[in-house]
Amino acid sequence: MSSSEKPIEAVIGLEVHCQLSTDSKIFATSSTAAGEKPNSLTDPVTLGLPGCLPVLNKKVVEYAIKLGLATHCEIQRESVFARKHYLYPDLPKGYQISQYEKPICLDGHVSVRLKDGVKRIGITRIHLEEDAGKSSHVDDEAISVVDLNRAGVPLVEIVSEPDIRSSEEAGAYMRLLRQTVRYLDISDGNLEEGSLRCDANISVRYEGEEKFGTKVEVKNINSFRYVEKAIDYEIERQSEMLRNGEAISQETRLWDEAKGKTRSMRSKEFAEDYRYFPDPDLLPLMVETDWIESIKEALPELPDQMFERFKSMYGLDDYNADVLTQESLVARYYDQAVSVHGNPSALANWMGTELFGRLNKEGKTIEDCPVSPENLADLVRLIDEEVISGKIAKKVFDEMFSSGARPEAIVEQQGLRQITDESAILAIVEQVLEANPQQLEAYKSGKDKMFGFFVGQVMKQSEGKANPQLVNKLLKEKLT
Ligand code: ADP
Ligand code: MG
Repeated sequence: MSSSEKPIEAVIGLEVHCQLSTDSKIFATSSTAAGEKPNSLTDPVTLGLPGCLPVLNKKVVEYAIKLGLATHCEIQRESVFARKHYLYPDLPKGYQISQYEKPICLDGHVSVRLKDGVKRIGITRIHLEEDAGKSSHVDDEAISVVDLNRAGVPLVEIVSEPDIRSSEEAGAYMRLLRQTVRYLDISDGNLEEGSLRCDANISVRYEGEEKFGTKVEVKNINSFRYVEKAIDYEIERQSEMLRNGEAISQETRLWDEAKGKTRSMRSKEFAEDYRYFPDPDLLPLMVETDWIESIKEALPELPDQMFERFKSMYGLDDYNADVLTQESLVARYYDQAVSVHGNPSALANWMGTELFGRLNKEGKTIEDCPVSPENLADLVRLIDEEVISGKIAKKVFDEMFSSGARPEAIVEQQGLRQITDESAILAIVEQVLEANPQQLEAYKSGKDKMFGFFVGQVMKQSEGKANPQLVNKLLKEKLT
């Protein structure tokens, strides 16, 4: 086989930064709120004034331990904060406090669901660090300005093993991380707003080779779509170089969304030397086993567990179990609805179609959903008890969504109760047959399709309220 035909495989490892949603910063008391007046959320520690000592926020450690436990990491009894040096206007101290040789979590994994099965992706480490400030350029005045509100906001960096083989797997992994931090309630996991940021390390090699190729790091990826696009672009670019026998150089590249390409930012020769060393202002971080245990006991049900439970307990298929466990609040809504009326499959369908459809349309989330789980369950119960038809139920649902009213109240007020009185339906059937002699003739001469026409007419005459089974039965009797 010539080298141009040999299949090429990509090797990918992701470094994901996740902003933790604590009220105050990692080493200072300033608020972490977003959208405030620039430089209003600062203090001597955040500003890096000489003589100020950082004090570690306990909540930050708790959140990192939660994430470590949820991703099957070994929580380290001792970890160490280090100074990572570089010069940039958004970094007042001249160094960032991070963890280097001794991070808080090591050696974990997650399992992502893919089209062709489940795949385990190793987590090398999770470490704590502080965010930098934000510099922006003011074009008109040809100057740069710095906002330090974000400086000192707590981050975890989650470093994966080079276990990922495609953009699809990378996307699934990112989505699972997002879902997990949201379930744990330690971050809003919002990529677009920068709470979740991803650097992708990518290399290629001929399939079957053991040695990894030279990796390229792509920065500046801030949406799920870009993660996949940037990786695909880079795999394509490197594969072509490999086929042409060109050497791939180790470098950092930037994703340029406007061009749909990555471009070189700096090469290995200019790789930074951060001169890491343990921060003398901070003692090694020691965590007690008891504390880890109590955090473990208080962990909520996690996405995977919820997914499996929904399948076994409610008999849902993978698709519905997946949709209903994307967000823990959605899963809780569903659990509650099923506990009120035990029809899991109908409730899954109503949520997946009508409820989500309407929420999307109105730009709402499950949190501000006007229909309570109890009311949705009652609506499905009314269908199951044949008080209303499925079609009328959609009308009732619209009304519930607009007014928040209970379904029974709407059904009574608007007189939507299903007609199950045979004689009342029979009267309509007779009326319809009488009013459509031509169609009746056609039916009798063998045009079976006309049956559907009559059903439609009867339903229309009854304003959708006639029981469809009875309509069918009575029509059949009349027509034979
Ligand atoms: P560095 O020292 O350059 O930071 P690391 O070994 O710490 O590199 O790895 C950083 C990230 O790159 C990790 O997510 C890791 O899985 C990934 N990685 C390492 N080597 C490769 C490679 N050859 N191809 C793709 N990804 C890689
Ligand atoms: Mg590294």
